[in-house]
Amino acid sequence: MTHKTIARVSAAALFLLLAWAAYTQNQPPKLALKAVAANLYMIEGDGGNVAVYVTGDGVVLVDDKFEQDHDAIVDAVRAVTTQPIKYVINTHYHADHSGGNQRMSTMNLQIISTAQSRINIQKRIQSNAPPNVQPANLVFTDQQSVFVGGKEIRAKYFGRGHTNGDAFVYFPAVRVLHTGDNMAGTNPLVDYPGGGSVVEWTNTLDKVMKEWDFDTVIPGHGNVTNKAGLQTYRDDVAKLRTDVSAMVKGGKSQADVAKFMEDNYKWAPNSLQQQWSVPGFMTELK
Ligand SMILES: [Zn+2]
Repeated sequence: MTHKTIARVSAAALFLLLAWAAYTQNQPPKLALKAVAANLYMIEGDGGNVAVYVTGDGVVLVDDKFEQDHDAIVDAVRAVTTQPIKYVINTHYHADHSGGNQRMSTMNLQIISTAQSRINIQKRIQSNAPPNVQPANLVFTDQQSVFVGGKEIRAKYFGRGHTNGDAFVYFPAVRVLHTGDNMAGTNPLVDYPGGGSVVEWTNTLDKVMKEWDFDTVIPGHGNVTNKAGLQTYRDDVAKLRTDVSAMVKGGKSQADVAKFMEDNYKWAPNSLQQQWSVPGFMTELK
């Protein structure tokens, strides 16, 4: 091939690559619906896990991912019922859990969160949130139940952990708990700018496990688990806190702690965990 031909072929290949990248970026990520318990499903993929509770008189969702996931969430609900969505309960203010509120709010339904989550959205506490996240229109400070089709769905604030306004959601009839991001992935993201606390996190989980009787756990991110799985996660949070506390009290620097988290907990440099959690560790654990 001549240089000219090579240049033309490369240009064509680059064009195809860019076109493909633009195409894939415009496609909302695929979501998957999984059965969790009788009439209770989970939608996973992109953003936080959404719980879908189907009753004889309407559907209750826990969380609504990002705005871009709205159509796929509604399609997933439609795959299991023709009942209308009546309530969306936000576990917390982050845009991967409440980002769908704006489009949900056009569907003649109520959106519920803690009062603190509403404030956090209004104050735009999340540094990387898109500009149009809309807060809930019904708020509570302690506990709020809704009864739909004879079934109770109970949301409660148990104390600080991932943020200062996390709601846990309980489905008593099927003994299932949605933890929001107080259980998410393999280890915690403590949102200190959003009022989170690694000290209170385990107390909060202990209160939930003491007060509510459940078998199945839907975490904020990751696979469905059980009460033992949540207990293990709680104990891992305590171990992380013990490790970091020893470093901070021993006079190690923030850079030392950041490196420790990178080496031992795979917290990538510049990740949200490094940005939001590590500076907070330095003051809360000293
Ligand atoms: Zn979160």
